[in-house]
Amino acid sequence: MSSETKPTQTYVEKPKSLVELRAGITSGAVKAADLAAGYYDRIAAVNPHLNVYLSLTKERAMEQAAHVDAAAAKGDPLGPLAGIPVGIKDVLVMKDAPSTAGSKILEGYRPPYDATSVARLEAAGAVLLGKVNCDEFAMGSSNENSAYGAVRNPVDTERVPGGSSGGSAAAVAANLAVATLGTDTGGSIRQPASFCGVVGVLPTYGRVSRYGLIAFASSLDRVGPFAANVRDAATLLGIVAGHDPKDATSSPAPVPDYAAESDKPVEGLRIGIPAEYFGEGLDPEVRAAVERGIEDLKSAGCSVKPVSLPHTRYAIPTYYLVATAEASANLARFDGVRYGYRSPASESLAAMYRHSRDEAFGAEVKRRILLGTYALSAGYYDAYYLKAQQVRRLLAEEFLRAFADVDAIVTPTAPMPAFKLDEKTGDPLAMYLADIYTVTASLAGICGVNVPCGTTAAGLPVGMQVLAAHLNEGTAFRVARAVEAAQG
Ligand code: GLN
Repeated sequence: MSSETKPTQTYVEKPKSLVELRAGITSGAVKAADLAAGYYDRIAAVNPHLNVYLSLTKERAMEQAAHVDAAAAKGDPLGPLAGIPVGIKDVLVMKDAPSTAGSKILEGYRPPYDATSVARLEAAGAVLLGKVNCDEFAMGSSNENSAYGAVRNPVDTERVPGGSSGGSAAAVAANLAVATLGTDTGGSIRQPASFCGVVGVLPTYGRVSRYGLIAFASSLDRVGPFAANVRDAATLLGIVAGHDPKDATSSPAPVPDYAAESDKPVEGLRIGIPAEYFGEGLDPEVRAAVERGIEDLKSAGCSVKPVSLPHTRYAIPTYYLVATAEASANLARFDGVRYGYRSPASESLAAMYRHSRDEAFGAEVKRRILLGTYALSAGYYDAYYLKAQQVRRLLAEEFLRAFADVDAIVTPTAPMPAFKLDEKTGDPLAMYLADIYTVTASLAGICGVNVPCGTTAAGLPVGMQVLAAHLNEGTAFRVARAVEAAQG
């Protein structure tokens, strides 16, 4: 199919909003058990075409739904997510449920505890449907690095959903969940949200606990929500955000009412546009859609001015040094002894380590371990890892300077719409360049939101990235809300 023709078959379906669903559950008009059963029926019908869910946690989900229905029948107060069906990226652990991180090396691993973000969703009443697909250890931009097969984009099944949280984005786009959790290290929430036409949130580093997240690059990893609209995403962030004694890097800052923040008008907000994000390599249709979104913000009363982020050009090499260095250390724990896969026949302990890792890690994961180990090795540490950390600091300072003049910065989320399956698998560099607009915020620790801002002529979604300063998620939601409202 050429990029000019519209796909013949799509699985796109918009989930009902949280407000609407919750009202039904509170009044008793909707039973949480029926809602969950309906989602499992849709998953049974649609999942074979999209490969979104890797495993279902039906028993736990139906127990929670029954609990919500019993509380509703008694008139007991219900949590803010009472009865809402959600999906969880398979890098976040759930007690006694398969948690593979998209890797063969974690096949059969059943963790003895819940990630904090997962536990908080459930405590708010959410019904956890199951675990969704992702790139192996969240390394990738297309979901094609999953050991369990690629996810297909619900908009056009010949295209990728983006990555690494491809399952999380596709689940919401295809209404296989009302909302999902994903993770973002260099763009893995924002970019798939953009490819699938849904809202995805990169919270400030430390805003959401990483406890129970299978680590990729610990100084960059963030947990955040996907939803079909900005307000629902804001509500979800409010539930998972906040200090966690089990994650020393989680912020003690109080958690605002993000949904209420997102309701505020944008009139008078100052929006920065960095020229560095609108240059060579940007697809013209993506540019046009984002520029229309910027016009919509002007119409809503925002002022727009240029900002300068010149170190952006160093962001990809900097990110791929820091991320691979941390990954090489984090992935040392997968040794065939403590978790998951062990190579069956080995003559010695050292050979068992070697064979287990060789047989069960995918090619991209091995590439990253090699790159990262090299960057950290004696003699190269100063030239690569240390230098990357210095550039990272400059990038962060540059954002801070920009945010002295503007309330939010707006860019395309990705340089292109969803590409075809297999289009970039043979060229890791081309794949890494899909992250060119997202890795800067990851390195700087600031927050952002992907909001859909139109489609290409072929009907592929385009996403706008709205960035805001540390702990300023409320502002990013307000701006994203205005863009969404203009879409109608
Ligand atoms: N695509 C980027 C990578 O492969 C980002 C992944 C992520 O954010 N987890 O590293």
